[in-house]
Amino acid sequence: MKEIYRAYENGLPVVGPTYLSQALGISKSTAHHMLKNLAKKGYGKYIERKGFIINSEGIKEAKKIMRKHRLLECFFVDIFSLDASQACKEANRIDAFAGDELIKLIEEKFDYKCCPCGNEIPK
Ligand SMILES: [Zn+2]
Repeated sequence: MKEIYRAYENGLPVVGPTYLSQALGISKSTAHHMLKNLAKKGYGKYIERKGFIINSEGIKEAKKIMRKHRLLECFFVDIFSLDASQACKEANRIDAFAGDELIKLIEEKFDYKCCPCGNEIPK
């Protein structure tokens, strides 16, 4: 979901299995499966031989997780002096599980606007 949102942010509207498999370092068939699954959940449309097109529901969901991811990244960089790629790796491990309450606390205390790589933190 995060990779798809990044692609969307970068103006790439259609994400195919090849793109996703390279971005995540997974097999093409796994990527294909993931994209079809997202479509099944109602986050977009999957067109065979083309790829996944995110819809407004998908964007809403992706923003939620991206927000957690990027706030955690900022937090790790600030508190533990991790570099951006370390912070990203650690945030990847836990972002999906971070509670809304924790994210709110981080946001209120630090008022971050951008992640360590300079990408906007979605609202
Ligand atoms: Zn990251």
